[in-house]
Amino acid sequence: MAGNLSGFYHSSVPESELLLVHMVKCPQPIPTAMPDPTLIPVYGHEWAQRLLQSAVLSGRASHAYLFVGPDQIGKTTMARAFAQALTCESPQAGAGLGACGRCRACRLAAEGGHPDHRMVEPAGGQLKIEQVRDLIQEAMLSPVEGRTKVFIIPSFERANLNAANALLKTLEEPSPTTRILLTSNESSSLLATITSRCQTMQLRPVPAETVAAALQTHWQTPEEQASLLAGLSGGRLGWAVQVATQPQLWQRHESQLQAAQDIVKQSVNDRLSLAADLVKETDVELLLRDWLMWWRDVMLAQQGCLDLVVNRNRLGEVQSLARNTRPGEVRRFIEALMTTAGYLRTNVSAQLAVEALLLKAPIAS
Ligand SMILES: [Zn+2]
Repeated sequence: MAGNLSGFYHSSVPESELLLVHMVKCPQPIPTAMPDPTLIPVYGHEWAQRLLQSAVLSGRASHAYLFVGPDQIGKTTMARAFAQALTCESPQAGAGLGACGRCRACRLAAEGGHPDHRMVEPAGGQLKIEQVRDLIQEAMLSPVEGRTKVFIIPSFERANLNAANALLKTLEEPSPTTRILLTSNESSSLLATITSRCQTMQLRPVPAETVAAALQTHWQTPEEQASLLAGLSGGRLGWAVQVATQPQLWQRHESQLQAAQDIVKQSVNDRLSLAADLVKETDVELLLRDWLMWWRDVMLAQQGCLDLVVNRNRLGEVQSLARNTRPGEVRRFIEALMTTAGYLRTNVSAQLAVEALLLKAPIAS
């Protein structure tokens, strides 16, 4: 049934945002009702939602927050929902971060048109000092609608040193009407002077059950596909939503899994030429994630743990590969996949890193 996902794709709702190599059980009740369309929904991270709601209701929100965690687990969505709650005209206790979901400010925030909300995204892969200077100037102006202006800067690890230092001054002398929300996939790559001036919220991947429930209730994904994608997502709701709503991403995922099976029969030359193609044509980071989940499944099948396999739609292929490869080689390749993902975040050549990786792939016996 691989690739047979007809009827899978429904209305596309945009969603912004390394994998946990284990299954996560959901400790919280899962919402089953369709959420209020004027509330920016946050799925999972319940402890953070409660903490932020309490800051909103008490009127004691810090001037700067830093949301840290793996890519696509909902950091920017959390920041947007917090911005909505911070500017809500009549915040209230209950589910979510405290926004009422009914006032004019909440409506504007849900539509992405609140004049006191500013999203400052890295331009050309890097956040530059000019962008931070603009932010600082804007922060000096009074809010347009209410009492608070909120600036969201996603992927702050992409700020160059000058930009980070420029923001530091604003964080040191905060304006009482301004809140700054940063997100980052790694707090250790940020200046300590920045992180020490922010309240840091360390977010973890979202439990699979929560991802599946969110796909069904908010993106109308059929139950079976929601469950499959939730397992494959490794807790990255953003990835699951993108794949559920964009057919070409599912096709790319499928072709990457085919490449993961083909490679075990390929010669050194074939592998080197595949490396060149992958670097040219693929998002290598996404490829590594897909392959990591795939080879983890092969390892689980070799250990007889079929119930933990997440590529359930390709169980026969996982078992076949498990029979035809040596467990030691599979384990070493999984380690190499994780090491390569780390290398790619530094300045190594992607081509060399992927070539070295592919030469370590298991050989079919
Ligand atoms: Zn409101």
